[in-house]
Order: sequence, then structure tokens, then C-alpha cells
Amino acid sequence: MKKILLISTGGTIASTPTDNGLTPTVSGADMVRLIPELEGLCEIRYTELLNLDSSNVQPEEWAAMASAVFTALSIYDGVVITHGTDTMAYSAAALSFMLQNLNKPVILTGSQLPIEDENTDGKRNILNAFRTAVDGRLSGVFIVFDGCIIPGISAKKTCSRNFHAFESINRKQAGEIAEDGTVILYDEPKAPAVPKPLTLNANYDAGVLLVKLTPGTRPELIEAAGTLGYRAVVIEAFGLGGIPNVRRNLLPSVHKLIALKVPVVVTTQCVYDGCDLSVYDVGVDAAKAGVLSAGSMTTEAIMAKLMWILGQTDDFEQITSWFSRDFIGEFNRT
Ligand code: ASP
Repeated sequence: MKKILLISTGGTIASTPTDNGLTPTVSGADMVRLIPELEGLCEIRYTELLNLDSSNVQPEEWAAMASAVFTALSIYDGVVITHGTDTMAYSAAALSFMLQNLNKPVILTGSQLPIEDENTDGKRNILNAFRTAVDGRLSGVFIVFDGCIIPGISAKKTCSRNFHAFESINRKQAGEIAEDGTVILYDEPKAPAVPKPLTLNANYDAGVLLVKLTPGTRPELIEAAGTLGYRAVVIEAFGLGGIPNVRRNLLPSVHKLIALKVPVVVTTQCVYDGCDLSVYDVGVDAAKAGVLSAGSMTTEAIMAKLMWILGQTDDFEQITSWFSRDFIGEFNRT
């Protein structure tokens, strides 16, 4: 029988009502006890790593999770991580960079309603997460939620209440879990010919600032990133990546940051389709100013990738060239 480790970190799924709102209190073992269908599916062990609302999960916790998964995978066939939904997509993206050459499943899940709530989605989500981990055909980091199996690198929380809370953005969903519990993969994963050893590289630098533009954003805001000591700036621009280049023209400020060797990445505020700086003059000018295009990545993945890259190197040229590198593809290639 397969051995799966449940790492619990808090979130709504583990929460109970208090005078101060929902607070995580329920242990992994207590959650599993509420799901009789798990009996006989696999051997389950538990690690109570954190007990946080995921609004409080920061890069330090990503590193702690990555390290716990790394240690676990020398013993276990897979890992299920219960996690708050609010920042689960960030954690999933960060784990995708910090854990390299994964050849086992690392499945994050959570819920919109606490596991002890009579209408909870938590039991189904945990059960499906274990089914996916036990199935074992997928390796890498995935979010399993509302019957969907979503690559960790492209996940986004798109609903704050609806049970269908996560989507895979600009990348195919990996699969689904049918009502009868069958794990259906949309593409048959290729087994690695010669698996590389799993490595842990959990170094990061949290000094990345995200700026969401609105009509009228003042250029000084962009420039302030340099004086505040941020090492990279991500601009969530308009549409395909448009940055204002008249009146409150942001490009001189972008120039100044790049001259200070602070890379500037441009992404879009749109949920789908990514950005393309070659279409409009407001994108072409930004590209001429030296910004990097985030292409089809989610903001969550961009932030995690930049923080991880900054943890590996101080060299501006390397940071900019690494930003365009397909690390996830490389970590999964044999
Ligand atoms: N605030 C909760 C959290 O992210 C929401 C959830 O888990 O659904 O921890």
C-alpha cells in the first residue's frame, strides 16, 4: 500500500469559528478521521507544519514547506499539503521552483468551507488530493480542487466563495477526478527515462514589488521601488501590456529603475491570454525601455519565480536571462 504524508498548514479547511472569525485549529489527523473513504486507500502519516491563515503564509513558509516535502519524498510515495486557498497558488508556484526534478506527486488542497461545516467541500477535496497522490502517474506540484487537477505553476484562485475556486491559466488543466473517484489525466505523462535526483533549492529574496496600474498612476510610485530597496518590480499593466507613455508617462521611471539594475517585468491585468508587448505602441515603447515581458505567466508565478531567481544570483544579466528560462520544463525534462 502506498505511503502518503499529509502536511497540514492551516487555512479554512482546518478552521473553526471563534470570536475573532475563522481560525485554523483542526489537525491533519482529525481532518482525515472525518473522511471514512480514505480508509484502505493508502497509509497516511502526518506533519503539522503550520497552522496559519494563508494570508500569513510568506516566502519563509514556502521554504519550510519545500524543505518538509524534500525530506518526506525520500520516504513517502507522495505528499498532500492542506493549505489556505487565498495564497495557495503562490505557494504552489514557489514549490514548483524550489523543488527540482520531482518524480512524485505533491498535491495542494484546501476548501472554501471548514471541514467541520456540514456543507464543506473540504472532505471531497482532501479525498481527491489523496486519490491523485495515490494514482501516482503525475509528478510535480499540483492543486487538486473541486475535482480539477491544476498544474501548480499556472494555478489562480478566481472565486472567493464558489467551490470551483481555482483555474489553470494559459496552460491546460492536467486532469480531473470523476465522481466515481477515477483519476483522469488529459495527457498521459511520460515516465522519465533516467530520473534525476530530487534537489531542494529554497533560497529566495522577497524583495519584489508588484504594482497594479490604474489610469492616473503616478510615476513616482514606480521610482520609489528603487529607493525602498526592492530588487525587482512587476507592473500589472493594461491589456496586452500597455504602459502609459504620455502625461503621467511611466517610462522615464522604468528607465531609472533599470539603470539601477532593478529589473522591471510587465504582465497584464487580464486573467487570460497573457501579454504581448509587440502589438501596440504603449507596449513597444515599454519593451524599448528595457522591460521584460511575462508572456503567459500568472502574477503568482511571476512573483514566485522572481523571488526564487533573486535568491540564486545578484547578477542583473543573469536575473534577466533566467526570467525567460523555462525552469519548470527543465526540472521535468530528462
Ligand atoms: N483565508 C483562508 C486562507 O487562505 C481562506 C481559505 O482557506 O479558503 O487561509
